[in-house]
Amino acid sequence: MTKDAAPECDLLVRNAYVITLDEQRRVYPSGAVAIRGRRIAAVGPDAEVGTAYISARTIDADGGAVHPGLVDAHAHMTLHTTRGAFPDSPSEAQSQDYFTIWMQAVDDDDEYASALLAGLEMLRNGVTCFLEPGTAYEPGAVASAAQRIGIRGSVADAYLWDRVSPGYHRLDRAPADHARAMKLLGGQLARNSDPDALVRGHVGLYGAATASDELERAAKAAADERGAILTQHQSFYADDVADDDARFGGHPLAHFAEIGVLGPNCTFSHMNAIRDDETQHVVDSGMTIVWMPGNYMFYGVAEFFKQRAAEMYHLGVPVAFGSDVAKVWGFGEQGYIGFLLARAHGQFLSAEEIMEMASRSGARSVGLQDQLGSLAPGMLADIVIRATGVAESHPPANPVRDIALLSRTKAVDTVIVDGRVVLRHGHATLVEDEEVFSLADASAHRLADRVALPPAMIWPDGQDGRVP
Ligand SMILES: [Zn+2]
Repeated sequence: MTKDAAPECDLLVRNAYVITLDEQRRVYPSGAVAIRGRRIAAVGPDAEVGTAYISARTIDADGGAVHPGLVDAHAHMTLHTTRGAFPDSPSEAQSQDYFTIWMQAVDDDDEYASALLAGLEMLRNGVTCFLEPGTAYEPGAVASAAQRIGIRGSVADAYLWDRVSPGYHRLDRAPADHARAMKLLGGQLARNSDPDALVRGHVGLYGAATASDELERAAKAAADERGAILTQHQSFYADDVADDDARFGGHPLAHFAEIGVLGPNCTFSHMNAIRDDETQHVVDSGMTIVWMPGNYMFYGVAEFFKQRAAEMYHLGVPVAFGSDVAKVWGFGEQGYIGFLLARAHGQFLSAEEIMEMASRSGARSVGLQDQLGSLAPGMLADIVIRATGVAESHPPANPVRDIALLSRTKAVDTVIVDGRVVLRHGHATLVEDEEVFSLADASAHRLADRVALPPAMIWPDGQDGRVP
């Protein structure tokens, strides 16, 4: 290339309303993004960036919004196929029983099929990266599914726990056993030796009162030594919180601070109970909270603990979103649910804050805040392009409000992950949508038979035992 030749790139997105989420939160109403390899080469006005590059491929966004891919910071990829199969009955005990029976029955093919469907659905809803909390018996099945569909992810070792508590599922393949947990701990971090790995590894404890202090310390040490994230379920429901309070003789976050297992590499999920003496520990630690407003409402947690996620975010705590198991929701909807939940508890999060949480805080939750969560030169090219012409986008509102609260995931059209177009006009490009559906449906039907689930519909005469 001569000095005066135009720079080259592999993919150019032009004619876009670019919402960068960068440090200055720059917005380019007529913008362009140039991608070279896995990363963003340039972002700026179309008149500058769009005309400057010679590109192998150009996508005309037709004026649609373009923004960083969203992160689901807590998604049980291998349990996605339970959606639709389990009753919606608000009995947590009943639901937990079903989960245990289901988890006893799954094999590696079931885990792969579930993760493949979850990955496809995530892409279709603008989610480009997930964190699997450590409940896949075979993390490799989740990684294979993610690579096949082209979504970024992070996986952990299976069910690390050594203590029986209300949060514990009695699983033959993963008993609560200290020696077992210590043997597996950190095994998935080997994935991080490839700096370009699409699926990385983190340290995951199951959490929710199922870890001894010894296991907790070992997990934090492993995460620290290997520069990885430590995640766990924490302070979910009345019973696991009561168990923690009793065994620690105080509140769990204060205890964890005291034994030195909190830090900026901690990504703790649920965190529905944050008592006053725990607040400062959470703020001071630099940890990330994964907020699951759908789950909080589904299980009626408000009966025990008032919602504090918005308050924590305003205190400077990174708060990301997690779907947990998609029970009566899809991926990419937690921001909207969270907005309404915050309002119900007398708090307010702006659409712009919701977008920051889903992108920038999400990137932090998986330890990739230097590479993901915003559109800027050098960042990984994980990008969502939205269609125009969606009814909910009219009359035009603030585009960020449109994305976070109004049209939400309906307008997601094209998704780029790691510089590759993995979704185009709503369809996966690396795999046939129909193949994903048939694999997942067949697995779910097989499992539903083995688990002996009641019929899902209570019509015509309450045949599953519930009164219609
Ligand atoms: Zn969970």
